[in-house]
Amino acid sequence: MPETHFARKAGVPPCWRGRSLLVAGLALGIVLVGCAKTAPPPAPVPKPAAPPAAASAALPADLGLGDWTVPERYRGELVTKRVRYFPRKLLALTFDDGPNPTITPQVLKTLAAHHAHATFFVLGENAEGHRGLLRQMADAGHAVGSHSYHHLYKASTEVAKWNLEKTAAVIERSTGRRPTLFRPPGGFTNGALARLAREQGYAVILWTISSADTTKIGPPVIARNIIHTPNPGDIVLMHDGSGHARTAQALPQILEELGAAGFQFVTVPELLRAWAEWQAAPEGGPVVRE
Ligand SMILES: [Zn+2]
Repeated sequence: MPETHFARKAGVPPCWRGRSLLVAGLALGIVLVGCAKTAPPPAPVPKPAAPPAAASAALPADLGLGDWTVPERYRGELVTKRVRYFPRKLLALTFDDGPNPTITPQVLKTLAAHHAHATFFVLGENAEGHRGLLRQMADAGHAVGSHSYHHLYKASTEVAKWNLEKTAAVIERSTGRRPTLFRPPGGFTNGALARLAREQGYAVILWTISSADTTKIGPPVIARNIIHTPNPGDIVLMHDGSGHARTAQALPQILEELGAAGFQFVTVPELLRAWAEWQAAPEGGPVVRE
């Protein structure tokens, strides 16, 4: 489906009006440096809302951190692109295929040291044996989404339904909350898993930039792949599953350099709420979704 694109004049700094030229081929680094001088300063990240009364009544108070609520406009929707012209320097780091008993704790420790939040798209089969890690994620204010149970690229409707339910159940048993986000294994959006997830109201979240950490590259290259490319509102694909120690090693540099550049690291639900808030504002930009 072609993108919807309405040029906005009023309220758009010149450097953002020029973004279409950037797409036409201007050097990314030069333009980003130029934008940094004129873009508005980042607004405060919204504080997580209080959990629903029923949930907090049934759970210890320390499970009430964070808010996984997805704005209405993104429920049952497929998110494959960032919102054009979104001005706030927010990034949503996402970690797939975990949890892993060695790598995930390293990631959590690094995120905590930088006061950063992220989203973990966990596999149900990995979560079963490491429910404490899911609870740590939720307690620290991170979001936990579903990446299915068995990481199948193709599944019958029946198998897809089982994968979604089993994964949601282990997330709920671990954190007290049902997941609101789904990332299909391999990013395949045409199969039964993504279709059913959308029917069930999940926001189906792909990514807008990739660390390429599934290829044989070292931590410095993983870090550079992210540090050199982000735009405000990007969703970043990374992994914390087995074999991804290099990603954990790259994370401190990513957080340090992009943090110094003014980016804040938020969960996907926080980012979606910021997008929705900006889109709803009178000066908000067009929605770009498929
Ligand atoms: Zn995966």
